[in-house]
Amino acid sequence: MFSVMGGTMKAPDFDYLRPATLDAAIALLASSDGDAMPLAGGQSLMPMMNFRVASPSALIDLADLAELRGISRDGSSIRIGAMTRYAELAASAEVMAALPLFGMALPHIAHDAIRNRGTLGGTIALGDPAAEMPALALALGAKIELAGPDGTRVIDADEFYLGYYETARAPDELIVAIHYPVALSDHRFGFHELTQRHGDYALAGAVVARTAQGHRVAFFGVADRPLRLPALEQALNTNPDVQSALHHLSAIAFTGDVKASAATRQRLAAVALTRALQGMTQ
Ligand SMILES: Cc1cc2nc3c(=O)[nH]c(=O)nc-3n(C[C@H](O)[C@H](O)[C@H](O)COP(=O)(O)OP(=O)(O)OC[C@H]3O[C@@H](n4cnc5c(N)ncnc54)[C@H](O)[C@@H]3O)c2cc1C
Repeated sequence: MFSVMGGTMKAPDFDYLRPATLDAAIALLASSDGDAMPLAGGQSLMPMMNFRVASPSALIDLADLAELRGISRDGSSIRIGAMTRYAELAASAEVMAALPLFGMALPHIAHDAIRNRGTLGGTIALGDPAAEMPALALALGAKIELAGPDGTRVIDADEFYLGYYETARAPDELIVAIHYPVALSDHRFGFHELTQRHGDYALAGAVVARTAQGHRVAFFGVADRPLRLPALEQALNTNPDVQSALHHLSAIAFTGDVKASAATRQRLAAVALTRALQGMTQ
């Protein structure tokens, strides 16, 4: 995203605020009229500010908010606090067991240094169309817990991604946690992404979750947002031969850019889906 922006710059001046509680953070966001931005791991926001893609008047650091931390199991779902870092996810035996897709996807997200700082809430909030975690949220049917001046609400990941870096989160809301259904023994998962180099953002990627209800398939890196294709999922439910489902890909408005044309991305999406299905957990 930043490679076409020209030379490196310094971020414009901003205030740095570090509230101690969730309520105080929301009050700061609400009083800023959309001018302040939450700061999580800074792995996307700081480069965006340096390149002046974002120029908030203030950063509200979420580091001290205990409400945004922790991993807990609640029956058939697992709740992961927004400030949980990628490295913590990878190190959590509970997450790896409950969410096999995390183990498949996390090694593809950037590099160690970024995974040590970047957070789940940050990537879910940013809504980069080529990011892995938003697509996992769609494939798994995750729910996103938001807190704002009017209280808390929970929104399906399916309803969250609206357009290019555009989400259903209001500027004065924070993502508190993400809730995922825990994998059952008969659930199967597949993941594949195609990149120019390991750790780069995907040119095209596919995530598959198969449960008793059928397939959920999410694509990333292909369009203005992560997305599912219900007709393609239905086709896989009735005939597991991927070739018979690939024509549904033409419903996607594929992105064409300096890295790959729209036609190339369509071919790469077909490859990613085919390989994700071939590599399904047994
Ligand atoms: C070289 C490089 C390579 C990368 N490669 C990949 C990759 O392959 N795949 C990938 O997915 N990502 C990649 N990233 C991005 C990385 O995953 C980021 O860490 C992630 O996108 C944002 O997480 P963060 O915690 O750093 O959030 P920040 O950068 O702090 O914030 C990101 C955005 O989310 C908002 N935000 C953060 N937390 C919350 C919250 N709790 N509630 C509401 N809004 C919030 C911020 O205001 C900001 O707009 C890469 C980054 C770099 C620098």
